[in-house]
Amino acid sequence: MRSDLDLETHPPQERRIFCNRTLNLRGVKAIGYDMDYTVVHYRVEPWERRTYDHVKAKLADLGWPVGDLEFDPDLVIRGLIIDTQRGNLLKANRFGYVTRASHGTAMLEFETLRQVYGRTLIDLSDNRHVFLNTLFSLSEACMYAQLVDLLDAGRLAAALGYADLYRQVRRCIDEAHMEGEMKAEIASDPERYVERDSETVLALWDQRESGKKLVLITNSDWAYTNRIMTFAFDPFLPSGTPWRSLFELVVVSARKPDFFSQRMPLFEVVTEDGLLRPITSLRHPGVYVGGDAGDVEGYLGISGEEILYVGDHIFVDVHITKSVMRWRTALILRELEDELRALEAFRDEQSSLARMMEEKVGLEFRYSQARLGLQRLQGGYGPQPEARPGELKEAMTELRARLVALDERIMPLARRSGEILNERWGPLMRAGNDKSHLARQVERYADIYTSRVSNFLFETPFVYLRAPRGSLPHDDAHVLA
Ligand code: IMP
Ligand code: MG
Repeated sequence: MRSDLDLETHPPQERRIFCNRTLNLRGVKAIGYDMDYTVVHYRVEPWERRTYDHVKAKLADLGWPVGDLEFDPDLVIRGLIIDTQRGNLLKANRFGYVTRASHGTAMLEFETLRQVYGRTLIDLSDNRHVFLNTLFSLSEACMYAQLVDLLDAGRLAAALGYADLYRQVRRCIDEAHMEGEMKAEIASDPERYVERDSETVLALWDQRESGKKLVLITNSDWAYTNRIMTFAFDPFLPSGTPWRSLFELVVVSARKPDFFSQRMPLFEVVTEDGLLRPITSLRHPGVYVGGDAGDVEGYLGISGEEILYVGDHIFVDVHITKSVMRWRTALILRELEDELRALEAFRDEQSSLARMMEEKVGLEFRYSQARLGLQRLQGGYGPQPEARPGELKEAMTELRARLVALDERIMPLARRSGEILNERWGPLMRAGNDKSHLARQVERYADIYTSRVSNFLFETPFVYLRAPRGSLPHDDAHVLA
């Protein structure tokens, strides 16, 4: 394989690795990889439509009138929260305040949203809330919202509540993933569902050759994992070098998150078709079922900060890994590519918006000064302004008119800024001007985040990823002075 190694060109913005907490990859001795939506990327629409259709068939078997329902890939985005008690979908900011909401598939008006959620801070540990952690969550949330509409229209048993509805959807989703049928369909037509990426294979190869131990840790079972990895990896490896040779250990049916927090029985896969033998510890490279993170650390002879784990599931792959094992963590967030491209396309409008907001702050400041001057004049207290009441009132009228005119120019731009990535819900990482709840979790638990594993290719196994100096509200104080 020949290529002109280019020593200067950096990857495009949307393919960069972003850093919350400084990470020197040279100090990382082992990298654990999740499989689904991490080293293997699925075409989201056909995959989620397939799950959705399986769930729909299960509900139809129960006699539910779901025949007309269709999967809508734009109805929800990762990072939303299902409020299972009210039948709502929510987007929250980093503090947990709800900034947008829908009941079923209908967006809530601002006033309704304020009445329902004005005093509520979303707490994900409350089990009425379900966070959409991964792209696998899209079919579930879409189906739930549409069923809420059916329930409200009186087309489902009246005794069912919104929470019961969620339990049914969850059960059907679980069954669809766990019964063999759906996985068999995907495994028999991987071309349709898997987006192959030769750069991922090369990135892992580079890492292994640089001396890092690679470990695959997936919740998928052996037969499915082997089929999908063979399809995704083997065409890009020399013949006779199967995908498995990249990994020191392959752990399937790992039962994450329990894998990271509990002791679990361990088995070795001893034949290609999956015959299992119970064992007590990992002794040599190979394919294993179950076990736990302690087994992996014991085998590698390293722990904590020397291990990086890379996955796409915010709770399972980065939150638990970080809080229980203190491993370094990387989150794969494929939607980031679309989001960053959309932000780039909106860049000029965003600058005009920022300029207009600055002008608005200035006008509001002057308006408030005039109003206070008038108040002191009329109350006969404090330092008295030189202007007469009439002049102050006139200034206020003029400033108010300018503010109204400015707001009319701001409004359409602000609306468009809130429609970036998804018309209903806006960007993944922002809620209004603030960080989204998802962004907050990413910054707390993921040391680094990036759109796909192959972005490691640009950065090499030797990169020193440095967190930017964080910004604070007072950083811009000199600008206002
Ligand atoms: P991983 O991301 O490689 O750990 O694997 C995820 C596995 O979990 C895949 O086999 C998915 O089919 C499966 N999965 C994803 N969502 C669900 C769910 O809601 N219930 C049960 N299994 C799931
Ligand atoms: Mg995954």
